[in-house]
Amino acid sequence: MLNESVKNVKGIGEKFAEDLNLMNVYTIEDLLHYLPYKYDVLEILPLSELIHEDKVTIVGRILYEPSLTFYGRKKSRLVLTVDVENVAIKAVMFNRAFAKKQLNAGDTVTLTGKWDAHRLQITVSNYRKGAQEDSTEIQPMYSVKGDITNYRLKKVISQALEDYGDQITEILPESYLTAYKLPSRKDAVEMLHFPQNRVQLKHARRRYIYEEFLLFQLKMQLLRKKHREATEGNAQEYDEEKVNSFIERFPFKLTSAQNSSLEEILIDMRSSYRMNRLLQGDVGSGKTAVAAICLYASLTAGKQGALMVPTEILAEQHYQSLQELFGELANVRLLTGSVKMKERREILTGLEAGEVDLIIGTHALIQDDVLFQDLGLVIVDEQHRFGVEQRRTLRDKGLHPDVLFMTATPIPRTLAITAFGDMDVSQINEMPAGRKKVETLWVKENMFERILNFIIKHVKSGEQAYLISPLIEESDKLDIQNAVDLYHQLVEFFPPEIKVGLMHGRLPADEKDAVMKEYAENKIQVLVSTTVVEVGVNVPNATIMVIYDAERFGLAQLHQLRGRVGRGDKQSYCILIAEPKNDVGKERMSIMTETNNGFELAERDLQLRGPGDFFGRKQSGIPEFKVADMVHDYRALETARNDATYIVNQELLETDDEYRKLRELLATDPDLHTKLD
Ligand code: ADP
Ligand code: MG
Repeated sequence: MLNESVKNVKGIGEKFAEDLNLMNVYTIEDLLHYLPYKYDVLEILPLSELIHEDKVTIVGRILYEPSLTFYGRKKSRLVLTVDVENVAIKAVMFNRAFAKKQLNAGDTVTLTGKWDAHRLQITVSNYRKGAQEDSTEIQPMYSVKGDITNYRLKKVISQALEDYGDQITEILPESYLTAYKLPSRKDAVEMLHFPQNRVQLKHARRRYIYEEFLLFQLKMQLLRKKHREATEGNAQEYDEEKVNSFIERFPFKLTSAQNSSLEEILIDMRSSYRMNRLLQGDVGSGKTAVAAICLYASLTAGKQGALMVPTEILAEQHYQSLQELFGELANVRLLTGSVKMKERREILTGLEAGEVDLIIGTHALIQDDVLFQDLGLVIVDEQHRFGVEQRRTLRDKGLHPDVLFMTATPIPRTLAITAFGDMDVSQINEMPAGRKKVETLWVKENMFERILNFIIKHVKSGEQAYLISPLIEESDKLDIQNAVDLYHQLVEFFPPEIKVGLMHGRLPADEKDAVMKEYAENKIQVLVSTTVVEVGVNVPNATIMVIYDAERFGLAQLHQLRGRVGRGDKQSYCILIAEPKNDVGKERMSIMTETNNGFELAERDLQLRGPGDFFGRKQSGIPEFKVADMVHDYRALETARNDATYIVNQELLETDDEYRKLRELLATDPDLHTKLD
């Protein structure tokens, strides 16, 4: 049986098994699926094509008895002279005294090692008696622990394949193998360990990748379905007429992307399952407008709504604009950490009694003592800061509201369908008409004075500017321009009629507010700030964003910052002051100047960083695949996703015998039993 201990494989003793355990290999099945991390391709080339210091493979005949010399207790040197294409090649093997017995004059050998073209000499890392059959051979390389060597591991895997290989049963329906021309499961495993040629290896990998993706996507789709079934009963019967007249309140027409996202969300809200949806859209694409409409829809269904944002500043800004928008239609309140005792108590009472219709705030919103009368919809801005914990908090209070996550950090499609495979995704991939592209420039620090003059010119014609600096305090070690210094520098430089403001995370909340308010009212024209303005802040009159030490920010963050300008109808500029030390840093700056599209930027960021780092490993929720790579194999990923969706929607797992094996395998996944939130 495949789930027996590896000790049952011939040639694996106690110590060997212990070392295998270090590699997380316990059962025969584990062993069979312990795959090479790479393959060395050994190709026999004519001597004239061998490159000095390359790893090469040659085949030849041993001319004389090899000579063996010892030096030190265990060290030895075996020298062969080999005839290759009638040229005498010297082959040196270190510490393989035992090989002398196997290699005799007249034998043909295949030798792999480092080539010295000047001395016509090879330093052998691998040898084999006889000639390599094909001109190309593929050597699997395993990562090994303890006393295990690549060679010994290959031997026991080969043994295990021989004795147990037939038990590797097919799990994919036959029709899929035919349609995609995939090898069987058993063949694929065998070929991944012992590929005969590149074509075989390619097909084996294709099969394995598809299987990994399909299983993962099936799991995600099943989870999604389970979500839906488990949360029956929160259909929100909103008033369509009222919602339509609410939309009329906006001084603009919704874009068609806004309209279709809105429609998708409203369908979820009206249906009996609980919504679990991600709304993606670039900064300024109009997500907040859509959010407001959904919150209103919830109110017309007799429910309460909550809007949760990451910072107090943002909460206050949303609070103000929503209050304006809703007017007498709703009782809108603000709840943040700085709302004081009496007012706070009054809000809480109002929420529980159902007198407060709509609550805006930070995380403080859904915790501890905050009780709702009937919470219908929670909207969470910047989704990745809202985790499993918060959802559990809501559930523990007996609440199963529809949940909409909004993010202005577009997640590459490849990641969205893996990391968020159990979510529905809506995209606003279009900007409101008339928006001008923010022009982005990357400059060196010595341009600073010219930039300041550029700012003066624009401020004099009524516009405003941001200057962002990464840290607030002097740091000797890191040569960082700090916001306070910068502030003083600018006050000196600018004529007195240009007012400069300073904002950073250490300021008390009311001071931050005051500064932000003055900036919004154009009483301050230039705002020096750390990244606290990063998320959501809206001052349409600001047209210049200067980012100091831009190489210290990630692409997503830079794009967020750039999104603070270009919100009005005037031409806006984003100026990156950066002297990146490495290629990745330079590449980031170039990408910023090349594209304004958040989705494209996210894809390129992903290419630069790799999937694990995209969200930060800790909370990524990104599965680890053995062979598959989400970025490289994204086509296979999309295929698997479509197939999984079809299989789950058609309930094939439950009804069709071809899918029995898949069903059995998925049934062993603990997540599918426990992971509901
Ligand atoms: P986001 O939340 O995606 O960053 P907002 O909803 O804050 O975007 O919208 C950015 C700005 O664009 C706001 O000033 C908003 O009033 C305006 N806006 C939103 N939708 C439209 C539209 N369809 N046409 C014109 N302006 C719009
Ligand atoms: Mg619903």
